[in-house]
Amino acid sequence: MKITRTRRQGSIAFRFNSDAIEILAPHNMPLAEIHQLVAENRQWLEQQQQQHCNTPMAAAQQAFQAGKSAMLFGQQLPIVLQVGPLDVSHNISNDISNDISNDISNDINNDISNNSQQILVSHPQASTIQSERIQALVTAYWRYQAEQTMTPLSHKLAEKLGVSIKKISYRRTKSKWGHCTTDGELQYNWMIAQAPLDVIYYLVAHETSHLIHHDHSPAFWNCVASLCPDWKKQRRWLKEHGSWLMF
Ligand SMILES: [Zn+2]
Repeated sequence: MKITRTRRQGSIAFRFNSDAIEILAPHNMPLAEIHQLVAENRQWLEQQQQQHCNTPMAAAQQAFQAGKSAMLFGQQLPIVLQVGPLDVSHNISNDISNDISNDISNDINNDISNNSQQILVSHPQASTIQSERIQALVTAYWRYQAEQTMTPLSHKLAEKLGVSIKKISYRRTKSKWGHCTTDGELQYNWMIAQAPLDVIYYLVAHETSHLIHHDHSPAFWNCVASLCPDWKKQRRWLKEHGSWLMF
């Protein structure tokens, strides 16, 4: 079990990952108290983790860690290794953001693509390829796919609402899918590229609506509904499955 200190007040919470249970504990809770709570609830915790590990999303995450498959836009695609360069029609490195390391953007340019049935990863020779390297490539690829999808969609939805976006940035966090600053900057977690497109659409509608309403008031949700009528369904999906996509 892993203990993560948070700014939570009072109580602890648990996050179930495929390989471990993460305990989110208030920063000022004594360690002894945490251990006691865990000991008291051990059976329940084990049951919960068992349940969480038997879901399709848990299996998908394990397969990704093993370099076997990856989720992209809600589909679990097998990762297929190919010796030699890929025949990719589009050049990725030109439009990928500068803050991806050059190494990765060069790699991603020639070494990864998908044809909606599989993710192709190229490697120079028929040697073994490290699963860490596959994961790094796929992670950079998620970022690329998220940017390609969400940036134009954000501008389109903002235009519908009659507002403009100052800046859009992408970052990987373990706690948030998106954020809108008070001065009109949208921030997205690119790991969302694993989620179905309907869910991504909802996230963009949500953050774009924050350009007008900086709260979660009824007026805000009306605004979200005007862009994304089935927002409740997508929000539920994100609540149920989202934690599996943040790792
Ligand atoms: Zn919000």
